[in-house]
Amino acid sequence: MKLVYTHPHHFAVTNVRNRLMQRGIDCEVRNEFAAGALGELAPIDVWPELWVIDERDVELAQRLIEADQSQAEGRDWYCGQCGELNAASFDHCWACERERRLEE
Ligand SMILES: [Zn+2]
Repeated sequence: MKLVYTHPHHFAVTNVRNRLMQRGIDCEVRNEFAAGALGELAPIDVWPELWVIDERDVELAQRLIEADQSQAEGRDWYCGQCGELNAASFDHCWACERERRLEE
């Protein structure tokens, strides 16, 4: 078991898990319910974590995650309307569904 990804928002971790599962990599989310379902940020020590079960899959998993992150161009962003943190790959705020603006 190896930790490959962590993020304050549960959906971001779930998203990465789904992509790894699609590639046939067994993984599991820990601290799944630590972060508030309504999107409050959890303290860093209880961020949801994504663990790869088989050590042999770790390298591929890390490469997939890296590719994903760079594809998403850049960085997480804060919604100008409700202030929520969104993953870089989102083009709409997950909380209030407002479209991302260029300056965000
Ligand atoms: Zn918002």
